Amino acid sequence: MIWADRIAKELKGKPQHVDDMKTPSGYIHTGSLRGPILHDVMYKALKREGNDAKFTYVFNDFDPIDGLSDDLRKDFTKYLGFPLRTAPSPDGKARSFADFFALDFKKVLKELGCEAIYLSSWDMYKEGKFNKVIEEALNNAEKIQDIYQRVSGSQKRQQGWYPLQVICPNCNKIGTTKVTGWDRKVVTFSCEKNLVKWAVGCGHSGTISPYDGNGKLPWKVDWAAHWKVLGVTFEGAGKDHASKGGSYDIAFNLCDEVFHYPRPYYFPYEHFLLGGRKMSSSKGVGLRASNLTSIIPAELGRFLMVRTLPNRAIEFNPEGGTIPDLFDEFDRCAQAYWDRSDPDMARIFELSQVNDWYKQKVYLPRFNSMSQYTHLDLESAYKKAGILFEVEKKIFSQRLSYYKTWAKTETKQEVTLTEAQKKYLIKLAKASELENDPVKLQQTVFDLAKQENLPVKQAFTAIYISLTGKTHGPKAGELLASFNRDELIKKLTTNK
Ligand SMILES: [Zn+2]
Repeated sequence: MIWADRIAKELKGKPQHVDDMKTPSGYIHTGSLRGPILHDVMYKALKREGNDAKFTYVFNDFDPIDGLSDDLRKDFTKYLGFPLRTAPSPDGKARSFADFFALDFKKVLKELGCEAIYLSSWDMYKEGKFNKVIEEALNNAEKIQDIYQRVSGSQKRQQGWYPLQVICPNCNKIGTTKVTGWDRKVVTFSCEKNLVKWAVGCGHSGTISPYDGNGKLPWKVDWAAHWKVLGVTFEGAGKDHASKGGSYDIAFNLCDEVFHYPRPYYFPYEHFLLGGRKMSSSKGVGLRASNLTSIIPAELGRFLMVRTLPNRAIEFNPEGGTIPDLFDEFDRCAQAYWDRSDPDMARIFELSQVNDWYKQKVYLPRFNSMSQYTHLDLESAYKKAGILFEVEKKIFSQRLSYYKTWAKTETKQEVTLTEAQKKYLIKLAKASELENDPVKLQQTVFDLAKQENLPVKQAFTAIYISLTGKTHGPKAGELLASFNRDELIKKLTTNK
């Protein structure tokens, strides 16, 4: 049984509210996709177990703008310290600064099949939904400091500290204000010049109601508070937050001692890194979440996260054989799903779906074999591959397009074949003329190498270079079988 179903079984019989969140303060990183996908998978697994389940995704748009990317520095420095929701959109089109970045992320989450209800923290505070937890937090200011100190061991106790920041009515900043008193009706606050390094307060001070969106709880308190406000029973945390004494730990303790609300299910998960030499060196590529679906289809993105245990880090390097291997693995799981042969593989496949393309058994062209269609227009490629049905055309054209993207990022190997290798390929071409069986072809590859006294590794390199232009590739027998005979012979025999 796969991890999500195991947890769903454990939680069976109780209504579940799955939640995840993100602060939309800039373009959201690819690494941040693991959280929402894992939560979406859990939500679907819980529903299948028969649980009454709900899935929300909160954008923390009440948080202050506390940093800017280079391109925004000129126009947006004056908004540093403002709630993300009250600064204008960088493109002038979205409702706010927060919405602009949230929309970019939401778009890729939708593509990846995340069926969350999206919520805005700002809206919930404005609607008064946080009033009760704000009161509880303010009344327990001392206790909250004790918890911080006990659990994380870092923060020193401060006299007159309150877990709230209000929006300064004079300069509209939230990042610069400090609450210094609470009389159970209003809070006393001051907007400080030097509270933070990234924004300057106006020096204004006064009293204000802490309710109805005038102020916001600090992040760790806010996290626990919003579990209570929404009724969350399941919210995981990435490695950064889930370390011992980290914010997840603190929020759990706040549930116990301040909000008197049951702790959500403990679900820490590891990093997802999209990396590789090329990706990190070219400007920004691979950094934005929306880039993921430009290098692999959404269902493969999900697949990558579903099949990896949440407590294992994923370092996805889009260069080399990783993407072709992922497609092959996906195809194997598709077979298991259609044949009902391996329940875990089938289930992983099922939870990776974003549309109904794979519901019925369809022809899956091998990713690696797409090299033979790159020079053709789509219609000719369909004809050559013998593709007739609409859904198979969709899958085929999707693979072809991702293949082209992948091939572009691949470094073409400048390898000159030796005379011995060329001779080997000519013999192989002859032997392949009437043979179409991958197993037999694989054997031929070895037999001929032995016969020609060519080291096996050199034989493989020669095959890959001549057929794909790279020094590595899939199983040679299968690769040889995937080509149309005439074309195969041509490729094997025309090496310079
Ligand atoms: Zn101010």
